[in-house]
Order: sequence, then structure tokens, then C-alpha cells
Amino acid sequence: MSTKIAVTGAAGRMGKMLIEAIYAADGAQLTAAIERPDSSLIGADAGELAGLAKAGVTVVGDIADVVNDFDVLIDFTAPQATISNTRFCADHGKGIVIGTTGFSSDELKELESLSSQLPMIKAANYSTGVNLSLKLLEMAAEILGNDVDIEIVEAHHRHKVDAPSGTALAMGEAIADTLGRDLSQVAVYGREGQTGARDRDTIGFATVRGGDVVGDHTAMFMADGERLEITHKASSRMAFARGAVRAAAWLLGKEKGVYSMRDVLSL
Ligand code: NAD
Repeated sequence: MSTKIAVTGAAGRMGKMLIEAIYAADGAQLTAAIERPDSSLIGADAGELAGLAKAGVTVVGDIADVVNDFDVLIDFTAPQATISNTRFCADHGKGIVIGTTGFSSDELKELESLSSQLPMIKAANYSTGVNLSLKLLEMAAEILGNDVDIEIVEAHHRHKVDAPSGTALAMGEAIADTLGRDLSQVAVYGREGQTGARDRDTIGFATVRGGDVVGDHTAMFMADGERLEITHKASSRMAFARGAVRAAAWLLGKEKGVYSMRDVLSL
């Protein structure tokens, strides 16, 4: 059965990629497209917007206008928009695939309370490689344990508005959980000045921003005499878009609750 998918943020960097990925996917169909109500692209054809053949789907400025047209919403927009879309999907029996990052802790709590009301997939990164790397990081943390200093370095394009990236935080969480540490207590976000010697229990994050970098992440496990680095480099947003479309097709018919990309990939 083909999943009827709506894309919100359709004119965004990820929105256009998602439309292209839906065109290429089996078992998925673009049936609705949404943008900010004040966007100049309202009324455009969603396929043409993405530089593809006409989709016969018009971009609308209000999700309520397409409520009968889709099963699953894919949302890569901004935190407040995503929360309001999640509420809408819960109220109307839809599933949601959330790609947006940069939620505050209050916003995360709100999403968590909504997650019992609809089938939801939330992932800081939808690429297969990153989700596999989370598993590798857990393995490394388990074996290297408390004998190493752990640091995560990430780089993204100049337009990215949140830091560190959701993916870097997900990597930190996977490592911290494996080691029985609470990331909110042990994370160190950047260093400057007289920092003192490094505390072994901390997990450090460093952020680089510039150019058109799609997304690079390296987790370092540093011991005396050797260092293990696990690196993922995305060279096209298509890696995220393909994963999100696969997730949307997987979500159709699932029970209410929150799932991860690792569930989708059976990792
Ligand atoms: P972008 O700024 O290019 O696109 C966001 C789009 O959302 C814009 O077109 C904007 O007009 C639209 N938008 C904002 N508010 C809206 C609303 N209320 N209704 C409808 N549309 C609305 O940004 P982007 O690079 O595409 O990234 C979007 C989000 O996805 C960011 O949070 C980014 O970090 C995240 N992201 C996640 C992954 C992942 O795999 N999870 C990958 C890439 C980007």
C-alpha cells in the first residue's frame, strides 16, 4: 500500500529534498505540501518547486486545508511549527515524522507528552550511516569504558541555527547512556580561558560552522597511546530525505507512541 505523505516546510532545503525522495521511493506518494502562510510560494506546484515534474499538488499555507489528503506528515521546519503540527496530527489521526532539531527542554517535554497520542518518529538524523554509527559508538563506549576521554566534533553549513547539532547530542546521549552518565551533567559545550585540567567523566562538544558543509560528525575516544575516531560525513541532504521517507512509509499503521530511526532500520 502506498503511504500518502504531506511535506511541511516544502520550500526549505530539506523540504525540496523530501519531495524529490518521495518521487523516487516505492510505496510513497506526495499528496500535500505546506509552507508558512506568508510564503510567496503558496499556490506553487510542489513538484516544480523542487525542480521536478509537476506533482499536481499545490503548496498551501495551512495544514487544515489538506487534512483529508495525507496519512503521515514529514516535518523538517522549526521547533514551534513542529509542536503545533504534532498537535494537529494527534487531533486528526495522522502519523508524524519529525526531523526538526533545536528544541528547548520545555519543547521536548511537550513533544514527549504528545507522543502517546499518535504514531511519531523523531530522529536528529535520518541517515542510515549515522544511525549505524550510534550503534558503533555504544560498542566503543562499552569496550573502552571509563579509560578514555570522549569528545565530539561537528561541522555544518553557515545557515544552521542550532548548536551543537541534534546529531552530536544524540551521539553524546548514546555514549553517556552506555556509560551510565547523565549527559546534562557531564556535557561541556566549548572551552575558553583557564579551563583547568580535563575531568575524565565529561563529554566535550566542539562546533564548527561555515560554507556548505552538509554535516560532519566525529566522536573521539582518546587514551594514552591510542585514539579511536568514529566519523560520519554527509555529502548530500538526500541521505536524510531518503531515510525520512522510508520512516514515513514504515510508520503507516503503527501503534501510537514514539519510535526512532533505529526501530525503522531494525538496528
Ligand atoms: P530551511 O530553513 O531551509 O527550511 C525550513 C522551512 O520550513 C522553510 O522553508 C520555512 O519557511 C518552513 N517553515 C517554517 N515555519 C513553518 C510553518 N509554521 N509552517 C510551514 N513551514 C514552515 O531549514 P532546513 O535546512 O531544511 O532544516 C530544517 C530543520 O531540519 C532544522 O531544524 C534542521 O536542523 C533539521 N534537519 C534535520 C535533519 C535530520 O536528519 N533530522 C537533517 C537536516 C536538517
